[in-house]
Amino acid sequence: MTRLAQPQAQQQVAPPPLDPPVRLLMGPGPSNPDPRVLAAMTANPVGHLDPYFVELMDQAMAALRRVFRTENHHTLPVSGTGSAALETIMLNLLESGDEALVAVLGYFGQRLAELARRAGARVRTIEVPAGEIVDPAAVDRALGQLPAKLVAFVHVETTTGACQPIAELAAVARRHNALVALDCVTSLGGMPIEIDAWGIDAAGSCTQKCLGAPPGLGPLTVGPRAMAAVRARKQKPATWYLDLSLLFQYWGEQRGTRTRAFHHTAPVAAIYGIHEALRLLLTEGLEARWSRHQAAHEALARGLDGLGLSLFTPPAHRCPTINVISVPPGLDEARVRNRLLEAGIEMGGGLGTLVGRVWRVGVMGYNAELATVERFLGALDQALRAEGWRA
Ligand code: PLP
Repeated sequence: MTRLAQPQAQQQVAPPPLDPPVRLLMGPGPSNPDPRVLAAMTANPVGHLDPYFVELMDQAMAALRRVFRTENHHTLPVSGTGSAALETIMLNLLESGDEALVAVLGYFGQRLAELARRAGARVRTIEVPAGEIVDPAAVDRALGQLPAKLVAFVHVETTTGACQPIAELAAVARRHNALVALDCVTSLGGMPIEIDAWGIDAAGSCTQKCLGAPPGLGPLTVGPRAMAAVRARKQKPATWYLDLSLLFQYWGEQRGTRTRAFHHTAPVAAIYGIHEALRLLLTEGLEARWSRHQAAHEALARGLDGLGLSLFTPPAHRCPTINVISVPPGLDEARVRNRLLEAGIEMGGGLGTLVGRVWRVGVMGYNAELATVERFLGALDQALRAEGWRA
């Protein structure tokens, strides 16, 4: 008689309790959230169709409009990170066979082009060397040769630290009757953005940089011209989760609508977080927040100069939020970053073509403070000395 093998005793292996290290996050993002935002996220959850929550959604939309500087009704935080907001733009505004033009300054420009391709568009790019920005005349020429339904720009290219003059670029695109899409992931809340005044049709951002909240939502605004293009689509977008028409059945197709159709279960704690982050931002004042970022950036640039380090990005294209530093020859950049991490501070390395050549330091949101910058500079000085480097 054969015997059935006894199943091996199932071991119940639970992970250890959570005990994350306390870090000062000075990389390209996430940056440290404001503790008041973290506290708000632990408030009692309510249902995602609860009248209290619906009221909160409306307040968050109104606050986001102020931060984007837009009257666009269609403004909401997408469930997902900044990439989700950008993907929402591409998948809704573009369809198979549409022409799109993307100005590429680095990795995130490439990413926008890839999103547009996946939306089925035929994508042309205008590419510039790392640190440089796109000349509006090049956009003019490209659109003169072949019109595009949509032209996409990255406001601040996080890999190179370069910031583009969006108002000028958008004006060129609009002259050619194209929709203008903007990635403002590394700028929203930290430096001037004027969605309506600059003529931007759709823009996407994140929560984990200058807004001072953890990652998890993608602030998005879509203007009337873009919504008209969405309504004129020949086919439904291939995405159900990021379908703008369905999202606004839940977020409210018109101001003041109280009846909301279930679409997906909103991440209630994340919405509490952005609500608090936007409340803090608007209490501080947008201009005051921009000035705080600028002051922190200038202090950082002075301090780096004192350490004998220089910024990679040409002065004319620099922005306050992300500071890209050239690694001096002969230094092992990863060892310097590791030393900082041992001191509890995260700094970013290079991405794409700049791997090994630069460090990236964010002064964003809650961390855009002089005392924080000084702490960072002190630790960087020590790490450089420990590596035997002298200016
Ligand atoms: N665009 C830019 C310019 C970024 O810096 C990032 C992320 O850092 C993204 C897009 C993607 O955003 P997320 O990581 O929030 O999805």
